Amino acid sequence: MTQSNAVAILSIGRELLLGHTLDTNAAYLCREVTALGYQVATIRTADDDRESIVAALRDLSAYRFILISGGLGPTPDDLTRQAIADFAGVELVFHEELWQAVERRFAALHKNISVGNNAQAFLPDGALAIPNACGTAPGVDWSGRGTRLFAMPGVPREMYAMFADYVAPLLRQAATSVVFMKRLHLSGVGESAVGEIIRAAAPLSPTAEIGTTVDCLTVTVRVLAAGENLSAAQAKTAAAARVLREKLAPYIFAEDGQTLAATILQILRTRRQKLALAESCTGGLVAAELVDCAGASDVLVEGLVVYSNAAKQRLCGGEGERILREHGAVSRECVEWLAAAERENSGADYAVAVSGIAGPGGGSADKPVGLVWVAVAHPQGEHPQGEHPQGVVAEEYHFASDRTSNRHFAKNAALGLLLKTLATVG
Ligand code: AMP
Ligand code: MG
Repeated sequence: MTQSNAVAILSIGRELLLGHTLDTNAAYLCREVTALGYQVATIRTADDDRESIVAALRDLSAYRFILISGGLGPTPDDLTRQAIADFAGVELVFHEELWQAVERRFAALHKNISVGNNAQAFLPDGALAIPNACGTAPGVDWSGRGTRLFAMPGVPREMYAMFADYVAPLLRQAATSVVFMKRLHLSGVGESAVGEIIRAAAPLSPTAEIGTTVDCLTVTVRVLAAGENLSAAQAKTAAAARVLREKLAPYIFAEDGQTLAATILQILRTRRQKLALAESCTGGLVAAELVDCAGASDVLVEGLVVYSNAAKQRLCGGEGERILREHGAVSRECVEWLAAAERENSGADYAVAVSGIAGPGGGSADKPVGLVWVAVAHPQGEHPQGEHPQGVVAEEYHFASDRTSNRHFAKNAALGLLLKTLATVG
């Protein structure tokens, strides 16, 4: 990292330090700034306190740009303008045109202006106002002490608009390089195995930075490369991605943000096939993830939440009582029969069933918390009577995490098995 492309992010607000608000502004800025060819060197969080903000600004002034969010509002805890003036060693100056803009905005909204709004017409001497298209508080653009800072509102919607309209074009103009990123999304392989493959492939793609993240059974490999212009950065990224794609081919299901659910829907839509679900421990998470994708109705017939044993028995029909008595609700036999029965009842080409022990209670020595069975009934093979219905595949998982994570793992396990089945069954 060179100082010329180093950016610092400063998030201001007590709510962030109390853990009441997640710092999504910093995450947004990191993504945007990286895409513009800069490197975020550090993220700092400061309290709603003049001293803390000034101390943070002093520390961060070594960086070329400081991107600030929060503390520009009308309440007494909004102290960003004042702190920037302290840091700059200047006074706050009243700007009549800013005051008139605030008045106009309130009049347009038929709202009464409060005394605190007065503060929004002040700027540190020598600073420029950044227009706010979505709110009343203008931002602050100030250069000095070896850095240039942009202070934006804390309200995410206002911050995004101000960044996109004013800050991003300036950063783009000042950039000395461009960064391009490619993401490969993987299923059916662990992060450490991916790490080994990447380590072996790294010498083949020395000009790109490669990293991985994992989210409940799906692994993302990110490839990032910088160049003097977009096509140079793209070419470097593409060369590295080509090597990785070759090595990771059996596991890649999508690229650049497409989800497992969206990929599955795309495959089924192309084949003009339908899907149905019978979910227990996931309580509709699989359905929700599919329905999040626009156009899910082309593919998804129905999603049942068969939570109680009675509901499972009812779905399984004649065999239900025996299956549950002999094997229990969290068993290979139960999910196999749920999937087979749901496929038959719904008329769908594929049916997915999932049953597990989400916890924290309900576990036993042979069926511990985190045990999950998933099954997929598919169009190959009929469904005769017997212990294991044909045309159904099942997998067992042990997640041993908290209730929320176990349910999300189970959801991805179900989608992962469906994807794998789709790859082998036409
Ligand atoms: P402020 O501009 O500091 O008055 O912030 C207004 C509101 O924006 C706060 O009450 C939070 O709900 C939200 N907010 C502030 N900072 C952040 C941040 N870093 N990430 C996400 N939301 C934020
Ligand atoms: Mg605040």
